[in-house]
Amino acid sequence: MSDRAPPSLPPSFLEALRRHLPADRLLTEPGDCWSYGYDNSRRQAPPGGVAFPESHDEVVAIVRLCNEHRVPLTPRGRGTGTTGATVPDQGGLVLSTELMNRIVEVRPADRYLVAQPGVLNAAVQEAAGAVGFFWPPDPTSAAFATVGGNLAYNSAGPRAVKYGTPRDNVLGLAAVTGAGQSLRTGVFTSKGVVGYDLTRLLIGSEGTLAIITEATLKLTPRPEAKRTLQAVYRDIESASEAVAAIMAQPVIPCALEFIDQRAIEMIRAHAETDLPRDAGALLMIEVDGPAASLEAAVESVRRAAANAGLLRLHAAADEAEVAALWATRKALSPALRQVAPKKINEDVVVPVSRIPDLIRGLERLSREHDITIVNFGHAGNGNIHVNLLFDPDAPGEGERADRCLDAVFDLVLSLRGTLSGEHGIGLVKRAFVVREIDPVTLELMRRIKREFDPNGILNPGKTLPGV
Ligand SMILES: Cc1cc2nc3c(=O)[nH]c(=O)nc-3n(C[C@H](O)[C@H](O)[C@H](O)COP(=O)(O)OP(=O)(O)OC[C@H]3O[C@@H](n4cnc5c(N)ncnc54)[C@H](O)[C@@H]3O)c2cc1C
Repeated sequence: MSDRAPPSLPPSFLEALRRHLPADRLLTEPGDCWSYGYDNSRRQAPPGGVAFPESHDEVVAIVRLCNEHRVPLTPRGRGTGTTGATVPDQGGLVLSTELMNRIVEVRPADRYLVAQPGVLNAAVQEAAGAVGFFWPPDPTSAAFATVGGNLAYNSAGPRAVKYGTPRDNVLGLAAVTGAGQSLRTGVFTSKGVVGYDLTRLLIGSEGTLAIITEATLKLTPRPEAKRTLQAVYRDIESASEAVAAIMAQPVIPCALEFIDQRAIEMIRAHAETDLPRDAGALLMIEVDGPAASLEAAVESVRRAAANAGLLRLHAAADEAEVAALWATRKALSPALRQVAPKKINEDVVVPVSRIPDLIRGLERLSREHDITIVNFGHAGNGNIHVNLLFDPDAPGEGERADRCLDAVFDLVLSLRGTLSGEHGIGLVKRAFVVREIDPVTLELMRRIKREFDPNGILNPGKTLPGV
C-alpha cells in the first residue's frame, strides 16, 4: 500500500479533459479517487484523476490527451484482478469502464453477442442465457468482473477445460491503441484468416497495448443436461492418474477440479464434511451434453476415474446434492483465510501428466522452506492454485515465503509449465517473466508494445519487464 499523496494532473491537461467529459464523469478529489487505486492484490496507489467515458470516441479523446501531455493511463474494470495490473502506481489517470456497460446486440443465429467492456460477466451470461446460450469464460468473480477485465487477463474458470478461455471465445474487438488510433480486429463470422490475429494479441495484454471498447463474444449453446461427480482418492498419485485417464478418453468434462490433502485437512478443520478419514486428494468432475447421451458420457468418465486408489465416487442425484458436493470445494477459501494472516495465491500451470511431479515438488519445497502450501485448482488444464500461507509479522517468515515462491516458479518451469494460467502478471509477477520468455521473444514483445503505445502511457510498468 502506498501512502504518498496522489500526484496531481497537469492543469492544462485537466482543462482539456473537461472539454471532453462533463464534470460528473471526471473525479479529481483525492478522496474520490482513492478507491480507484487498488485491486484484489491489495496494493494501492492513488491516481491523479478518474475518467468515466461512455463511448469509443470519448476513449479516443482521453487517450490522445494523455499522449499529448504524457500522462500515464490505466484502464480499469472493477478492480477484482489479483496481480496489481490495474493499480496506477505511476499516478496519472484511471479510465474506468463502469459506464460503458451496454450489451449492444445478441445474435443467436450467428452465435455472437456484442458488449461494451464494462458489462459484467454475469450480465453477459444472463443476456446469452435468455436465448439459450452462454459465454464460456466463468471466473468465480463473474458477478462483479467486467468483460474488459476478463479479456485483458484472459480470465477463466472450471469450464475452460472443455470450452476454453477468452482467447477461444472472442471473435473480434474494437479498441483504441496507446497512440489514440481506433482499430477493429477479428471478424463477425465463425471462420476468418485475413491478416495477423490481433484479437488474441490484445486478449491477455493487461491493458498495455490498447483499450478494448467493444467485444464480439462467441456464444455456445447451453447444454441440455449436466451431472456432477465427486471422486475421493487415497493419494495424489491416484488422483493424478485419474485426471490423465479422464483427459485421455473422448468425453471432455466441463469441470475437472482438484483439491490436495492439505486442503482437505483444512476443510475438515474448518467446515462440516463427511470425507473419508484417509482421503488424500479429491476431484470434482462435471459432465454436460445432450440429455439422451449423458448417461453414457458419465459412464465413460466414471470408468476413467476408477483406479486402485479410488476410495469413493459419488454422483449427485439432484440439485441439492450438487450444491452439497460443491460446498466442500467452496469451504476452502474461508478456511484458508482462517489458517494464516497472509497467503500468496499463485495460479501456475503444468502439463496434466506432470501434476504429480508438481505436487510432490511443492511438498518438498514446503518442508525445505518451512512454509505451509495448500493446492487446489483446475486439474483438467493442469492449472493449480498454489497457496503459500504465512504470517508476515513472524520473524523471517515473509522472507522464507519469498524464497519458497522463487523456487516454486523454477519448479513449474522445469516441468514445462507456465507462471500464470489466468491471473496474469501485472505488477506482482513482472520480475519473473524473464525466466519464462526468452530474450528474443521478449524483445519482439517490447517492440510490439512500442508500436501500439509509442509514448509508453498505457498501463506503464505492468506485465513486460524492461519497458
Ligand atoms: C473473489 C474473486 C474470485 C476470482 N476468481 C477468478 C477466477 O475464477 N478466475 C480468474 O481468472 N480470475 C479470478 N479472479 C480475478 C479477477 O476477477 C479477474 O481477473 C477478472 O477478469 C478481472 O476483471 P475486472 O473487471 O475486475 O478487471 P480489473 O481488475 O479492473 O482489470 C484487470 C486488467 O484488465 C485491464 N482492463 C480492464 N478493462 C480493460 C479494457 N476495457 N481494455 C483494456 N484493458 C482493460 C486492466 O488494466 C488490468 O490490467 C477473482 C477475483 C476475485 C476477487
